[in-house]
Amino acid sequence: MKQYLRELPAIYTLQNNVQFLALLEEQQVPFNKVTEWLQEEIDHIREALLNNSWKEEQISKQVFTEYIFQRVEQRAIDFHQYFVKRVINATGTILHTNLGRARLSEQAINQVIQVAMNYSNLEYNIEKGVRGSRHDIIESILMEVTGAEAAMVVNNNAAAVYLILRGLAKGKEVIVSRGELVEIGGSFRVSSIMEESEAKLVEVGTTNKTHLFDYERAINEDTSLLMKVHTSNFKTIGFTASVSTKELTELSTQHDHVLVYEDLGSGALYDFQHHGIGDEPVVAKVLNSGVDIVSFSGDKLLGGPQAGIIVGKKELINKLKKHQLARVLRVDKMTLAALEATVKSYIQGNQETIPTLRDLLLPLSIIKEKADQFICELREVNHGWKFEVREDHSQIGGGTMPGVEISTFIVAISHPDIHSQHLVDLLRLGEPVIVARLKDDKVLIDFRTVTDEEVIMMIKRFREII
Ligand SMILES: *Cc1c(COP(=O)(O)O)cnc(C)c1O
Repeated sequence: MKQYLRELPAIYTLQNNVQFLALLEEQQVPFNKVTEWLQEEIDHIREALLNNSWKEEQISKQVFTEYIFQRVEQRAIDFHQYFVKRVINATGTILHTNLGRARLSEQAINQVIQVAMNYSNLEYNIEKGVRGSRHDIIESILMEVTGAEAAMVVNNNAAAVYLILRGLAKGKEVIVSRGELVEIGGSFRVSSIMEESEAKLVEVGTTNKTHLFDYERAINEDTSLLMKVHTSNFKTIGFTASVSTKELTELSTQHDHVLVYEDLGSGALYDFQHHGIGDEPVVAKVLNSGVDIVSFSGDKLLGGPQAGIIVGKKELINKLKKHQLARVLRVDKMTLAALEATVKSYIQGNQETIPTLRDLLLPLSIIKEKADQFICELREVNHGWKFEVREDHSQIGGGTMPGVEISTFIVAISHPDIHSQHLVDLLRLGEPVIVARLKDDKVLIDFRTVTDEEVIMMIKRFREII
C-alpha cells in the first residue's frame, strides 16, 4: 500500500479546509490542539498503509481528508467532556460509594460557591482581626449538633481513625473485639490502619461473642484505648454478644490511663430508628454514654461532603489539633463550607432539604408518581419494549445499615428481542450517564434516587434509545 502514501493530505492543506476553521470557531478548540490531532491522524493512516492494515476500500486524498476530519471532530467533542461528571443513579441505593455517596443540599452548594469564588475567613478571626484556625471555625456548630465538648474535621473518617490512633495510642495497646475488626469497601481495614498508626492491636473475644471480662483481662499499664468499631457493613446474627459503649466507659473509669474511642462509621445526626429505619445510634446518644472520643463520616448518613468528624473530650481534641498530622489530614474551605451548611440544616430543623435524608424518608406515593410519569411518557413510543411498575426494595448503601431494605417503586424494562445487558450498557455509555440495576434479564429503574429533573432527562434518553 506504500504507493498510496502520496495521497496523504499535507497538514497545511488540512489547515486551509473550512472544517478546520469550524473546529476553531464553532467547537472552540485551540489551533495547536487541532493541528496536533490532524498530525496524529495522518501518522495513523501512514502507519496503516505501511503495514497494509488500512481497511477502507477506497483510497484518495478526498477519502483520507474526510476520514481525518471525522476522527478529529469526535476528538473535539471528547475534548470538552469532563472525566469527573454527573451520573443519574437509578439503582435506588442512596449512599452509593461508587457514585460519590451523599449528594449535597442546595444550601451546602451555595455556601461552597460563596467561599470558593471569594476570599473567606478560613484562617482569620474576624472579631479580633488576627490569624484564626480552620480547625476551630465550625467547631461550635458540631458541638451543638452532637452535644460534644469539642470537635474537629479531617479529610475522611479513615483519616480520623488514623489520627486518633496515632495521636492517642502510638506505641501503646488498643483493645478491639474480634467481632469488630471490620473491612469497609475493600480499602479500609481497622487492623491495617492500626498497623500504620503504630498502635498495638490487642484482639479480644471471638468473632461472634465478646464479653466485658475479655476487655477487663486484656487491660494492663500499656493499654491506651478501648476501641469500639461500628460493624457498618455486616450483621452478626444468632449466638452473639458484644459489649456496649456504656459498659466500656464504666470499665475505663476504673483505669485512669484508659480511654474509650468509638469509630461510629456512618454517624447519624438524625434518628432514623424513630422512623423504623435501621438501628443506627445518633451521635449525641453515643456521646451521652460517656465515651471519650468518637469519629464518623461526613458523606454517609449525615449527607454532607467527604469528611471525618472527630468529637469528644476537649483535652483530647486539642491534642489532636496540635498534632503534625492534623496539617496533613486537614480539609479545605469548600468542605468546611458544605459541612457547616449541612449540619446547620439539622439545627434549623429542615434536614429534609438534605438529599440523603430526603431520599431515605421519601414517601412511597411520591416514588410511584415518578415511576408512573416515566412509563406514561414512554408508552406511545414503546416499539415492543415492556415497562412494568412494581414494588421493590432500595438499599441504603455506603456500608451503612446492612440488611436494611426500604420499600420503593421500580420500573422493570425488557424487550423480547434485545438483551437487557445491552440496554444497561447503552444507558451507562450515553449522555447523561444512567446507572441502573439488572435483575432476571430486566433493567430496573428505582425512582427513589432519581430527582424530578432526572426523570425528564431519562425520558428524553429513553426516547432516543427506543
Ligand atoms: C465508612 C467507615 C469508615 C471509613 O470512613 P470514610 O469516611 O469512608 O473514610 C471507617 N470506619 C467505619 C466503621 C466505617 O463504616
